[in-house]
Amino acid sequence: MEPRKVYLDHSATTPVAEEVLKAMIPYFTDAPGNPNSLHQWGQTARRAVDEARQNVASLIGAEPRDIIFTGNGSASDNLAIKGSAWADKKGRKHVITSAVEHHAVFDTFKWLGKNGYEVTVLPVDECGMVLPETLKKALRDDTLLVSVMHANNEVGTINPIEELGALCRERGALFHTDAVQTAGHIPIDVPKLPVDMLTMSAHKMYGPKGIGALYVRGGIKLVPLVHGGGQEYGIRSGTENTAGIVGFGAAAKLAARLREEGEEARVSALRDKLLDGIVGRIPNSFVTGHRTKRLPFHGSVCVKLIEGEGMLLRMDYAGIGVSSGSACTSGSLEPSHVLLAMGLDHATAHGSVRLTLGRGTSEEDIDYVLEKFPPIVELLRMMSPYKGGK
Ligand SMILES: *Cc1c(COP(=O)(O)O)cnc(C)c1O
Repeated sequence: MEPRKVYLDHSATTPVAEEVLKAMIPYFTDAPGNPNSLHQWGQTARRAVDEARQNVASLIGAEPRDIIFTGNGSASDNLAIKGSAWADKKGRKHVITSAVEHHAVFDTFKWLGKNGYEVTVLPVDECGMVLPETLKKALRDDTLLVSVMHANNEVGTINPIEELGALCRERGALFHTDAVQTAGHIPIDVPKLPVDMLTMSAHKMYGPKGIGALYVRGGIKLVPLVHGGGQEYGIRSGTENTAGIVGFGAAAKLAARLREEGEEARVSALRDKLLDGIVGRIPNSFVTGHRTKRLPFHGSVCVKLIEGEGMLLRMDYAGIGVSSGSACTSGSLEPSHVLLAMGLDHATAHGSVRLTLGRGTSEEDIDYVLEKFPPIVELLRMMSPYKGGK
């Protein structure tokens, strides 16, 4: 019998849904037109792009005109941050972000910091949340942009973007949020949110990799990062990734259907069972991130006295795909900046494990993980250099 395979890394990427793939296929083959061509092949592709733009816009309550398709979530973050910084007419040079951002935001701010901008990095609380009072203190008259993620990819905590955005409005600063983890998973309604720009990525919501979108509220000017044929309202040149865009549109429609079907409640109940099961079965383990203000599919824990990478590999042998919070760079293990910003010490942060569920995750999968995970931890602890130590 094939051993069970349980993929619990949906925050890293999701499988392309069958209906998404089906929608995409004709745009590789039967409908090969360039949406910028005037003939019938071009017009077929143009109509498909328009329809997809409508579907992606509807997902967040936006106008189609306010959606710019980009190469991926990282490209959307870069466009929002650099594009708005460079477009500022008042010559303002102060920008604000948080200590727990994805590298696509964090490293873009670091780059701005080396190129004439002054960057303030907001701290977070022990759940990884950006508190409005910290932003309030950091905002200045010369603050041009604030970027704080909607929900964190490592610990699942959802930020109070409504309050954060309102503070930016008061002080005349633009507000961008990276919603890659939330779009398609929890409701977002931009007409009701004080958000000027919002990043999405198809492959985190059952769409294909390599297609992103940036919502840009009408009237906001961005300097393009890619010049050329003037596609995407002149903001992002290059022949449209027609199949990818169609896939993104189909994924947005699927997200609306999953919402109606109650997928959010189903997956969060399984996630709670998983987290309660882990902390109940494994001594010296605890949940990281907020327990309730949290992405419905997202689980993350720290298991003390072990090292995440070793655990990840043993889980992989058991057919379970998870991720650890540390990235192995040149042989040295540097714990995640997110966990350190939340106040965890290095040794504890090394024991972080992220388990992110999806629409394919079943109760049997969770039972299987709860059966396999504790003995793996026990084995690793027996072998651990920390054994008997802290
Ligand atoms: C995955 C992710 C990104 C990057 O999106 P890509 O499409 O992979 O470039 C950005 N921000 C967050 C929060 C993410 O989880």
